[in-house]
Amino acid sequence: MKVLVINAGSSSLKYQLMQPEDGAILAKGLCERIGIDGSLTHKVPGKEDKEFSIPMPTHAEAINAVLAALTNPEYGVISSMDEIDAVGHRVVHGGEEFASSVLIDKDVMDALYACVPLAPLHNPANITGIEACRSVIPNVPMVAVFDTAFHQTIPPKAFLYALPYEYYTENHVRRYGFHGTSHFYVSRRAAEMVGRPIEELKIVSCHLGNGSSVTAINGGKSVDTSMGFTPLDGLPMGTRCGAIDPSIVEYLMQVRNMTAEEVNDVMNKKSGVLGISGVSSDFRDLDKAAAEGNERAQLAIDLFCYKVTKRIGSAAAGMGGVDVVIFTAGVGENSADLRAKIVSGLEFIGIAIDPEKNNTRGKETDISAPGAKVHTLIVPTNEELVIAMDTASIVGKK
Ligand code: ADP
Repeated sequence: MKVLVINAGSSSLKYQLMQPEDGAILAKGLCERIGIDGSLTHKVPGKEDKEFSIPMPTHAEAINAVLAALTNPEYGVISSMDEIDAVGHRVVHGGEEFASSVLIDKDVMDALYACVPLAPLHNPANITGIEACRSVIPNVPMVAVFDTAFHQTIPPKAFLYALPYEYYTENHVRRYGFHGTSHFYVSRRAAEMVGRPIEELKIVSCHLGNGSSVTAINGGKSVDTSMGFTPLDGLPMGTRCGAIDPSIVEYLMQVRNMTAEEVNDVMNKKSGVLGISGVSSDFRDLDKAAAEGNERAQLAIDLFCYKVTKRIGSAAAGMGGVDVVIFTAGVGENSADLRAKIVSGLEFIGIAIDPEKNNTRGKETDISAPGAKVHTLIVPTNEELVIAMDTASIVGKK
């Protein structure tokens, strides 16, 4: 089976043509600058990357460009669009409506539109990607896979904010959690790596990338997570502030004469390690600046690691223990220094890593110190594979 996985952003669209049976990637790529001018980078394993400038006034032209690349006689990988059996779409927010992936039909589209107020930064782009696909290849079945779905098992004591209860029942204000496909995938891989059934394990999964979240997974189910009503809550991130005292918002509006929108924009785009360091949102830049003596870059790294350490501790406390800690995503998979710094305060709950085993990047590795009570693992994430597998299983049942 061949599944096209689509992750549509406001001006970009990532794609992978995959075989869910074995996870093989036939081709993948990225459309950028949609609505501005348009470019396509198309990659086929074992072949030279291709880059094109193609006018993309809307996502429909981007999808057309992707299909043209996939079927191109020279650098394509399929002879016609008929070879695409299904399309799996990443959707950021599924609200409480969707606890698992679904086949897209008119009712699902209506429900997706209803979720837009909950994720105004993300869902409109996801919906645009779906609508564009539906207009270009209307007969191919499509599935929506939600970042929030895995977290629908979180109990009310963990997902409710202590606001008047009717703000939840009437206005849907609650913790939803994100990065669900990533936490789901790495927790399953981790159980296989340690050779125990996932039902027996208490796992703390740390997805540390541009966006970061820590999830407590007990018996295979998400029971708590650091991101909240939106992906702004929880840890400080590349440009997001994470959890702060909510009174700061009104205070800033007064003393800096800002609107609520301006404060929101700063909290999402100018805060986090970028805001603290004044250097960059990218941890590689921070490492370099810190090594050259930039104190605020070092402070940003220290602050980030400290908050991740505390989140791991709190996730373990919430579950009454921890058997496995997972590091995944750009920072979690690649930065030995940050992993070491994060776990250095956690020996008291049995987490200890072996510096030599930790000196690796981007591949599945058990980096625990000999005799450590807790398994600490690097597990590269693969959200596209989860999307492709969910899509194949739903379309297969049709
Ligand atoms: P996204 O949330 O955009 O998917 P990624 O998971 O790709 O993000 O993570 C991007 C982050 O990973 C960037 O901050 C980047 O600096 C960081 N990163 C990638 N490689 C390394 C590395 N070797 N050392 C430190 N940070 C790294």
